[in-house]
Amino acid sequence: MLVAGAVIPSALLLCSGLRAQTAAPPPDKSPHEPFVVFLGTGVPGPTPDRQGPSLAVVAGGKAYLVDVGVGVVRQANAAYLKGIRAMQPRELSIAFVTHLHSDHTIGLPDLMLTPWVIGRTAALELYGPPGISAMADNVEKAYAEDIHIRTTGLEQGNTTGYKINAHELQPGVAYQDGAVKVTAFAVKHGSWPLALGYRFDAGGKSIVISGDTAPAESIVENCNGCDLLIHEVYLGLPQGGTGSSEKWARYMKAFHTSAAELADLATRARAKSLAATHLVGDPAALTEALKKGYAGPVTVAHDLDVVSP
Ligand SMILES: [Zn+2]
Ligand SMILES: [Zn+2]
Repeated sequence: MLVAGAVIPSALLLCSGLRAQTAAPPPDKSPHEPFVVFLGTGVPGPTPDRQGPSLAVVAGGKAYLVDVGVGVVRQANAAYLKGIRAMQPRELSIAFVTHLHSDHTIGLPDLMLTPWVIGRTAALELYGPPGISAMADNVEKAYAEDIHIRTTGLEQGNTTGYKINAHELQPGVAYQDGAVKVTAFAVKHGSWPLALGYRFDAGGKSIVISGDTAPAESIVENCNGCDLLIHEVYLGLPQGGTGSSEKWARYMKAFHTSAAELADLATRARAKSLAATHLVGDPAALTEALKKGYAGPVTVAHDLDVVSP
């Protein structure tokens, strides 16, 4: 493989994907911070128009990722090329995982390795529930041969940027710097022992992210008049699964939140605005169902939507 900074024939640049990393940055079109970039708004099913669950809260010129679904780094680069400077893939170095379901973590090898391959030197700071350290260790083991070749071969890759510093969380303040304070809280995701939601406080605004959850009072408590509530939602049952519809109805009730339930939750949480993601159901029907029970502004997110609180 190739490294950024090398002299690369233009034909290779085009097919290697490195062109974006070597060209001048696109004109900055970032809105006032903080804001949210939806990288993937889908669920486990391989929807071509919706990548796996992942978003970024941008504050202080930095992207704080929440969940790392499939496509996370390519979607970040798509946002960067549209003018969101903080989404430069090489600068992605912090992520908060809500829970260890594969749709929320399948992009971890991508986030660990791709920014490094194009020149990231900082280790990835990775926050999540218990189990995230073992996952990080095992991903590093899985790619040991790749890391060996890239660091000892002609690529001369740096020996720091593929590393993951994993931080296992319990509910409470998870992280704080000059730009953001991140608070983790427990949600109700079926049989998971600990699934997390996150509240970001930045620039006088509050953004609450549900992760995957059935209706949870902890959302109401942690939002409590928040500027933007980002919540998962379903309307009807997921398509393409195996097993009876009764089984799926039971599962959805214990693990996820219906549009009617979310409208009620957002109202009781006094959310100033609502954005729905992790979508199961038709977006127009979801919008209509949410607006039926919640009076504030509603966004049913698409991939690469940029939403301000
Ligand atoms: Zn999920
Ligand atoms: Zn889940």
